[in-house]
Order: sequence, then C-alpha cells, then structure tokens
Amino acid sequence: MQDDPFSGALKQLEKVNKLINLPANIYEQLKAPHRILEVAIPVRMDNKEIKVFIGYRSQFNDARGPYKGGIRFHPNVSKSEVKALSMWMTWKCAVVGIPLGGGKGGVIVNPKELSEGELERLSRGYMRAIYKLVGPNTDVPAPDVYTDPKIMGWMLDEYEKIAGQHVPGLITGKPLSIGGSAARSYSTAMGGYYVLDEAVKKLKIKKAGSKIAIQGFGNAGANMAGILAEKGYKIVAVSDSRGTVYNPQGLDIKKLSEHKTKTKGISNFAGGKNMAEHIFCTKADILILAALENSVTLDNVRDIKAELIVELANGPITPQADEILSSKKITVVPDILANAGGVAVSYFEQAQNAYNYYWTEEKVLSELESMMRESFKKCWEKKDKYKSDLRMGAYVLSVERVALAMKDRGWA
Ligand code: NAD
Repeated sequence: MQDDPFSGALKQLEKVNKLINLPANIYEQLKAPHRILEVAIPVRMDNKEIKVFIGYRSQFNDARGPYKGGIRFHPNVSKSEVKALSMWMTWKCAVVGIPLGGGKGGVIVNPKELSEGELERLSRGYMRAIYKLVGPNTDVPAPDVYTDPKIMGWMLDEYEKIAGQHVPGLITGKPLSIGGSAARSYSTAMGGYYVLDEAVKKLKIKKAGSKIAIQGFGNAGANMAGILAEKGYKIVAVSDSRGTVYNPQGLDIKKLSEHKTKTKGISNFAGGKNMAEHIFCTKADILILAALENSVTLDNVRDIKAELIVELANGPITPQADEILSSKKITVVPDILANAGGVAVSYFEQAQNAYNYYWTEEKVLSELESMMRESFKKCWEKKDKYKSDLRMGAYVLSVERVALAMKDRGWA
C-alpha cells in the first residue's frame, strides 16, 4: 500500500465485496476513477525562471452528487495517491450520507520551498489548468495537506475571474470573509470527537481516569487535543514529527499549544517530559492517529496498548497492521468516518453558499453532531450485521449507498 496507494484502496474494496457481493456490473465500475486529469503548470519563479509543476485531479464517482475532495500540495503526491484519495472521498461522503461523490487533486511540490508570490502563482495556475473540470455542480475542491483557506481564496478568485461571476460554491474551506463556514477550521477534530464519544459509550470506557495519546499536533491533532481536554479527558502523551512529550498527570494542552507556537515544536515542554520511546508505547486507553499515512505498521502495531483507536489521519494504519488490531479486538474508528467532519462542514458551507445565507457556529455544530453520531450508529449496526470490524461496517454502509445510487441511475 505504501508503494501503490491505489492498489491498497482496491484491496479494501475487494474485502467489502467479499462481504456484500456487489452486482458484477457495479463492482467493475468501482475499480477505476471516472476521469483523471494530469496537468503541467508553468510558474514564473521570483528569479524570473519558469518552473513546471505537475498536478492531478481525479474524479472517482459522482453517482451521489458532484465530485468532492481536497487539493494536496506535497512532494509525495502521485497519480496513484490522488486516485486512492478520490476513492476514499467517495466512501467518506457516502458514510455520512451527504449528497456528494468523490474526487481529489494534488500538485507535486514542496510548498515550504516557495515564496508567498510563487505559491499564489502556482495556486492560480492549478485552478486555470483544471477550470473546465470543476464547478459547484460538477466537482468541488477544498483544502488538504499543505493547502489552506488563503490558497482556496486565490483559487476561487481565479475561477471567478474566468467565469465572470461570483461562484462561492465552487470551493470549500474558504476564508469566512468570502463565503466560508463557521467552525470549518476545527470541524475535522469536532466530528472526530463526536464519534469518539459514541465509541466510548459503546465500549463502556470510563471518561474519568482514562488516558489519551495523540500522534500528530497539527490542525487535526491539536484541535482534537483541545476539544478532549475541554471535555475532561486526560491527555498523557502527544507527539509531532520531532518528538513526544509525556505527563502521566495530563498535559496542559493550552500551554502546550503556546509552547508549540513559540518553539515550532512540542519537545522540551516545561509541563511534561520528553519521551524517548515511540508514542505507541504509552500506556493509554485511547490512541488518536492524526499525523500521516502508514504510521502503524507490522513493526510497531504490537506496542499499542489502547482499546480504542481513532483515525483522524487518512490511512494511518497499514492493512497488515489493521488485521492484527482487528484480531486483538481493538476497536478502530476508521478514517472515512472519523475524519468526515471536515467534508460534512464543507457540505454545509456549500449549502450556505447556495442560499447566500450564513449559519451561526452553534447551528453548524448541532448539524454536525447529529450527522456524526447518527453515522457512527449506522456503521456499528453494519459491523454487527456482518460480524466484522467497524472499518468494514463503515465501508459496507458507504459502498452500499454508492452502489444504490449507481443502480438507480441505470448504471448497473
Ligand atoms: P498538519 O500538517 O497540520 O499536521 C500534521 C502533524 O503530524 C504535525 O504536527 C506533524 O509534526 C505531525 N507529524 C508528522 N510526522 C509525524 C511523525 N512521524 N510522528 C508524529 N507526528 C508527526 O496536518 P493535518 O491537517 O492535521 O492532517 C493530519 C492528517 O489528518 C492527514 O492525514 C490529513 O489527510 C488528515 N485529515 C485532516 C483534515 C483537516 O481538516 N485538517 C481533514 C481530513 C483528514
């Protein structure tokens, strides 16, 4: 899966198919994206030279609604990764029941090496290159790894200049001033919290005294840490790319965030100790994965002591490690459900754009809460029905929904 993300995604689909036996004509069509566009984006660098960047947009399936998915700026972007992510977006939108399909985009670039002007020219260039494929009723992009509301603002502006009209529903994750939604910035973590809370109830984990470890302290991980601390959980360990900090009495997350802002990392925090071992070795009841793909592997999966794992990151557990967790009856709330809060609020953003009328933060959160809690319960029912794990429960729910939409369109 590490070498070829799309083969990994296909293997997951194969596993679902073994459980639910999809009609052959549907299964065949779910093995490849509808369309994948590869573009070359010429960008004038600050030194006046032109550099060409390669980008992609994959449109996997739009049976349930317009393709939907973020744009990633990262050196490891590949056609296979974009295809896999677009397939996972299809399942993610379906699992929470929003009327959207799955897509994904990416550019092979290390944005940390670009000046602000170069980044803006690349973002506008990418939008010009994919302009004909995207739109509020066809394919709706959003931020992903190393892209943010500022970049969405540039891309929207470029699209609207070509279109000659305002089209705020083209892209989500925009700044609030140009049609973004309240709560979008922490919606992934908030959605993750609601499903974690449902899992805690199912597993009868006692909140008081239970310990949490969080891998990754970026947008998803740090927001989740803040929410959990506010809800009374004890976060005993947090890691980032440079190290792990530990405090058995619980870390002060507010102070840790301030420390990170000041020092650009979490190590050497006065309110805890640097930990030499990997964060998975922590004695914690709940483990949150909020860093990168393929973090839990056959090399470290046996270190994990938690009884509940929540995948805020996309694909953080390799399929082989996942088999081991499943055999040990460790409950994993899978990525397509656990981090769907981001795309759920993106959908609310589009709905607000369509009405040109904006909701309060309370309204967004209350809609998100009922959607996430309800989706968790449905995934759990599927897990029980098919005597499988929660990942398969979520996959069965979403693949069945996509298959039904395909059948109702006469695609079978
Ligand atoms: P981010 O770049 O803001 O944060 C990533 C964090 O992971 C950083 O703190 C980084 O230091 C840490 N990290 C990197 N390598 C690590 C390692 N080896 N060990 C421990 N920590 C490590 O990214 P993000 O937006 O928080 O996204 C994290 C994951 O969540 C990604 O898989 C992303 O696709 C997924 N996700 C994010 C959102 C969102 O709204 N932010 C939505 C859906 C999914």
